[in-house]
Amino acid sequence: MSGGEEEALIEAAQAARKQAYAPYSTYQVGSALQTRSGRIYTGCNVENASYGLTICSERVALAKAVSEGEREFELLAICASGAPAPCGACRQVLYEFSPDLVLLLVDPQKKQRARVDLTTLFPHAFQSSSLGI
Ligand code: ZN
Repeated sequence: MSGGEEEALIEAAQAARKQAYAPYSTYQVGSALQTRSGRIYTGCNVENASYGLTICSERVALAKAVSEGEREFELLAICASGAPAPCGACRQVLYEFSPDLVLLLVDPQKKQRARVDLTTLFPHAFQSSSLGI
């Protein structure tokens, strides 16, 4: 993936962040997920008055992609203030489809960014082979 493509992915995550529905935390997050086939799916966090029903931007993007037939992902840009990082639940859900996923963690002003492998963030993932079936 070229630097220009990564910039486009980051810009898509930043744009998705603007759609965040976060009236409770005011913590806005946007994600953009690049498939192996080259498509981009975006997501924002969607909060709920019943806090536990909140859906993270990463899983919104992933669900959109999977629901359209995508199964393999290369790169995920996550944009949020501070030092964005996917929560444990999202790490597990992302691992299900693409253990070799690379993440770009970006603040909204692009002043700071980190590039990290999912397996670094989430070693020893629970896997289907763990089920013993
Ligand atoms: Zn999450």
